[in-house]
Amino acid sequence: MAKYVFGIDLGTTYSCIAYVDETGRATVVNNQEGTNTTPSVVNFASPSQVVVGQVAKENAVIDPQNTVALVKTLMGKSNFAINYNGEDKSPEEVSAYILRKLAEDASKLIDSEVKDVVITCPAYFGTAERTATKNAGEIAGLNVIEIISEPTAAALYYGCAKEQGEKTILVYDLGGGTFDVTIMRIGAGKIEVICSDGNHELGGKNWDDAVMQYLAGEFCSETDFDGDFDEYAQQDLRLKAEKAKQQLSSREEVPVMLDAAGLRARISISRTTFDEITQTLLNESIEKTDAAIAVAESKGYKIDEILLVGGSTRMPQVTKALVEKYGIEPKILEPDEAVAKGAAIYALGAYELKVEEWKEKVESGEVDMNDETVKEEVEKYQEEAAVSTVAIPGLRGQKMSEVVTVATTKSYALKVLVEGIEKCCNMIIKNVQMENGSVSVTKQFGTADDNQETAELVVYESDFDSEYYDVDEDFTLGTCSLELPGNLPAGAPIQVTFTLNNEGILEVTGRDMTTNKEIHATMQATAGTTMSKEDVAVAKAKSKNIAVE
Ligand code: AMP
Repeated sequence: MAKYVFGIDLGTTYSCIAYVDETGRATVVNNQEGTNTTPSVVNFASPSQVVVGQVAKENAVIDPQNTVALVKTLMGKSNFAINYNGEDKSPEEVSAYILRKLAEDASKLIDSEVKDVVITCPAYFGTAERTATKNAGEIAGLNVIEIISEPTAAALYYGCAKEQGEKTILVYDLGGGTFDVTIMRIGAGKIEVICSDGNHELGGKNWDDAVMQYLAGEFCSETDFDGDFDEYAQQDLRLKAEKAKQQLSSREEVPVMLDAAGLRARISISRTTFDEITQTLLNESIEKTDAAIAVAESKGYKIDEILLVGGSTRMPQVTKALVEKYGIEPKILEPDEAVAKGAAIYALGAYELKVEEWKEKVESGEVDMNDETVKEEVEKYQEEAAVSTVAIPGLRGQKMSEVVTVATTKSYALKVLVEGIEKCCNMIIKNVQMENGSVSVTKQFGTADDNQETAELVVYESDFDSEYYDVDEDFTLGTCSLELPGNLPAGAPIQVTFTLNNEGILEVTGRDMTTNKEIHATMQATAGTTMSKEDVAVAKAKSKNIAVE
């Protein structure tokens, strides 16, 4: 069996899986239903079976209580997505079923095990959301090599597809539930993220809502219906609204047949009306785009090209607004597939690096082969992939770590006292390039009391780029306990280091300067939004016994 590695675009409304085939081309693998994308909808059909994809999406109409859509919007924010059969299901577990559907279908179609993957997430995802995404992969039984941002993946696919000179591009990514704007420098074999911004509550779904509202209003005036749609009529209306919206991308006007409470009406919606009722939504995305351009300009960059990603960029209003505003004709890049294909290219590069790294470590004898975790890692990266990145035109065998330079997507702060007032002190600032793949900042603090055994650090994550901001518990990421030696006097110097790794996940470490010893730090996320290693293992074992269709 040939060894391939995969890129997965785990989308809010649709998901997609791709790999680099033996000719070096990034290729999407269709699902069992024969489509290139799979609706990110999960229907709990029985205690031993879940249905994912188009069938689940259709089941939502008849079985809404047992169906979860838009689970991505809950990642890292909640530990509850649905209660099925008396059991709370986490967003990670629900997402794991989507991942399993993609992996199992792809595995059958190309007759290769789907194990090693890179999963994408929106650029604005913070530590909790990224960790949740990674855990979803683990629960699905996958080896998540890395989590990368969707626009980085799209640009990698775009940048690697051809040999080209350097330019500054803006990626406007409007998906089903989220909006992301990212500005980067790209050239052959090079991607440097300059800045990114987004709105995680703005996506195709909001356009659907606007159409639903319009159709419902028209239906009521045509039929004298009181507007009290039951759950089933509501789901039906949602499906029809989305379909009408999609048809309006290629037609000027579409008819919609609606039924509710035994009443029937044929309602027509034109593209002009659609554009009018969704104008404020489009404007919100343009405002974010303006803000990102301002950041890039402040760093001396001028936008050369605009790239459209995400299914919702098929709406003609998007191109029209961008041309009017910026005078640049955007390029449309395979809206459904670009992210998964870019992730597949990245996955191959990242996998190659791991194989090489572990091979060197084992050969030089610097690792202990009796150590269980070392053994596990070595086994994961023993087999070489069937294809090499040398086969990808724009990459020419360059190391992936040298190709992609990402930027921080959030700011990370510590609670400190400034002249007696509690403030959040930003250690890591948003939109700073991570030259060596990660960024590390160290600051020195003093212990408060004699013989303190632990120091509790409160960590905040936000979009603020100032050095200090007022404490706001909404931005709490978690607390971090530093275990102190226990015999230090008050005011003993302690160094705290924040490291944001290349996946955008924050790690905190400390150093006791008196003994110059590393201090163990444990991060605890707020209110159970992040699963512990043990929780992940339990969820993995439990969900294994559930069949995914
Ligand atoms: P993505 O998350 O990138 O797969 O985007 C999914 C979103 O794109 C959903 O809201 C879809 O309704 C929307 N979409 C897909 N095709 C079209 C189309 N032809 N016109 C408008 N929106 C579309």
